[in-house]
Amino acid sequence: MSTFKALMITKDDAGVQHLDWKQLTEAELMEGDVVVRVTHSTINYKDGLFLSAKSAIPRKSPMIGGIDLTGIVETSSHAGFKAGDAVLLNGYGLSETHYGGYSEKARVKGDWLIKLPAGIDAHHAMAIGTAGYTAMLSVLALEKHGVKPADGPVLVTGAAGGVGSVAIAILSKLGWHVIASTGRPEEADYLKSLGASEIIDRKELSEPGRPLGKERWAAAVDSVGSHTLANVLAMTKSHGAVACCGLAQGMDLPASVAPFILRGIALLGIDSVMCPMAHRLEAWKRLATDLDLKKLDAMTRTIAFSDVISEAAKIVKGGIRGRVVVNIA
Ligand code: NDP
Repeated sequence: MSTFKALMITKDDAGVQHLDWKQLTEAELMEGDVVVRVTHSTINYKDGLFLSAKSAIPRKSPMIGGIDLTGIVETSSHAGFKAGDAVLLNGYGLSETHYGGYSEKARVKGDWLIKLPAGIDAHHAMAIGTAGYTAMLSVLALEKHGVKPADGPVLVTGAAGGVGSVAIAILSKLGWHVIASTGRPEEADYLKSLGASEIIDRKELSEPGRPLGKERWAAAVDSVGSHTLANVLAMTKSHGAVACCGLAQGMDLPASVAPFILRGIALLGIDSVMCPMAHRLEAWKRLATDLDLKKLDAMTRTIAFSDVISEAAKIVKGGIRGRVVVNIA
């Protein structure tokens, strides 16, 4: 293909962002040692913010959106990859400082790429996407801390969202009793089909609470932040752990030190974007074995590239259930 389609934000002199479909040539791509024909991308919360054309996500202008991509290597001068390899990429500044996956072609650093793990095809890799890989990083962090299903239940907040849905599916397969916190009670059957044993109303957690509460769960995966995270910490069982990966309610953390110094609770930070490669490979290896692909299929919808702007507008309002794959090819 001599020219290809990409979804690009350009900032004008007044700082106003303009989102446009562009036809680009390979010469216009950013630096890198591998050119990938992109077949699929996805919509994460951050992609929704980018496509709102009002966020601080693009740190350069112009910028192509899409924090995830899968595709086939067309050309490579990187020792680890050759033409025809099926690859995936999560984060590493895509859509912030480097052109992302909402483009039929991408030129990226080979050091950022992962070969598709055995058992995961390109569509499933983007059904997982950054949301699912972050859910796995959260599970790995809890495991490394030493909490286990015998210690008590695990709470998943933002349960019907992308991170939450994948976290429930993984944790239930690993034998955890999963409590799902959601603002969408109508999704109770969906959350139970993924493996949740109990559903709670997110209002129980989203208002200002006490520094310590009744001990309800041994561990948690929190993609919500703010008062929710403060309450999650206050209700975690002694010497339990909470993986903090998101800010759907807010970026603040109006908590006290009580859970840390009186109950030894550990707050584990999760960053998918600059996560070291060894840790990424571990996460993707575990996703290939510990995520039931039938459950992944049940939580995933596929849309055409042309529909990405209208779909992305829904995610920032908490209006997307599970995961969305964007068919780029
Ligand atoms: P989704 O929009 O798919 O899921 C977020 C969920 O949070 C919603 O579905 C909703 O779940 C809940 N929610 C939304 N608004 C509120 C609110 N005001 N108060 C309480 N709960 C709310 O997004 P993702 O799953 O893709 O991402 C979730 C979060 O994780 C985002 O903040 C994102 O930026 C972050 N993230 C961080 C990463 C990292 O590297 N640390 C990587 C990936 C994501 P329900 O309807 O069930 O209540």
